[in-house]
Amino acid sequence: MKILVINCGSSSLKYQLINMEDESVIAKGLCERIGIDGSKLTHQPAGKDKVEIEKDMPTHQTAIELVMDALQNPEHGVIKSTDEISAIGHRVLHGGTTYSESVVVDADVKRVIRECFDLGPLHNPANLMGIEACEAAMPGKANVAVWDTGFGMAMPEKAYMYAIPHEYYEKYGVRRYGFHGTSHMFVSGEAIKFGNLDPEKAKVIVCHLGNGASVSASIGGKCVDTSMGLTPLEGLIMGTRSGDVDPAVVQYICNKEGKDVNEVLNILNKKSGVLGMSGGVSSDFRDIEAAKSSGNHLAEVALEAFIYRVAKYIGAYTAAMNGVDAIAFTAGVGENDKSSRKAICEYLGYLGVKIDDAANDVRGKMTVISAPDSKVKIMLIPTNEELAIARETRRLTE
Ligand code: AMP
Repeated sequence: MKILVINCGSSSLKYQLINMEDESVIAKGLCERIGIDGSKLTHQPAGKDKVEIEKDMPTHQTAIELVMDALQNPEHGVIKSTDEISAIGHRVLHGGTTYSESVVVDADVKRVIRECFDLGPLHNPANLMGIEACEAAMPGKANVAVWDTGFGMAMPEKAYMYAIPHEYYEKYGVRRYGFHGTSHMFVSGEAIKFGNLDPEKAKVIVCHLGNGASVSASIGGKCVDTSMGLTPLEGLIMGTRSGDVDPAVVQYICNKEGKDVNEVLNILNKKSGVLGMSGGVSSDFRDIEAAKSSGNHLAEVALEAFIYRVAKYIGAYTAAMNGVDAIAFTAGVGENDKSSRKAICEYLGYLGVKIDDAANDVRGKMTVISAPDSKVKIMLIPTNEELAIARETRRLTE
């Protein structure tokens, strides 16, 4: 069984064709600059050289057609015909309050994706275009929507309600949703298996630390809290996003700078985080660490604040669950940066956390990085959102 996984952004489309017999990647690739001059498809068949195809991609529809051509190409293709593809799984950002479980796409699912355009203005329209492009290119095949908000929908009311007038929840669904759901679902599940934990009761905290960053707490794989909110702006300090701030900051900057709310929100989303805190050094944590090493004080503070906030969320979520069995690190920083992992864990001595420095000297490989006598298992679990989407697609279509 082969499953095609599609992840559409506003001007990009990532894909992976996965063989579900052994969960191996048969081919993967990326369409960039869709709808912009200079669009390009990079196609990587497993075990072969990468192919770059420069061709106009005015729409996601043309991008999907190019991907289908690349997959079936006599030289660099990996299938003879699209008949070999059993189903298509799509990452969809926002399912609103209607959908939390993955679902086979029908007219109602498309209506909900459309209704949530306001909640995911960059992603939901692109996700819908990707689904409709696949429907046109491969008529009759099942398309499955896997929601980035799905995992967080299990949160109890006390965790997802904002303390604002209830009418805004009733009228517009203003609540905390959480994002990176496929990653939190995948990593918490793998942590339970790898750590040999009780699948019904394990208390797991997942730190997804990448350019976007979020923490989740789950019991038996069911989310009890997560740090992102109505949008992916809430929570941790990220590459360019501020995470938690006093909302009055928005009004204050508006008044001082003569900007409107949209402009200031744009600054909080795109010019803040470690990029903004460091005085513009970079949104890339490697650059921030290099600047810190060369004596840049603002970069040092940005990194310390990032780590401090992760540690505070871990503390809060340990309290929320009345304990924690395992803490898993994932995504770009979480999988690659041993010094950030160690610095975060140094705040957790009161939980009996002990890091094994030799075990922590690892990148991108599933590993227990805590010492054998650590009271909490600390792990590095590489995330794999595509595989999580493919597994959900298989479950719903087999
Ligand atoms: P992601 O969004 O999960 O792809 O993560 C991307 C981020 O991971 C980049 O902004 C990098 O700052 C960070 N990253 C990747 N490798 C390292 C590393 N060795 N040390 C620190 N940060 C890293």
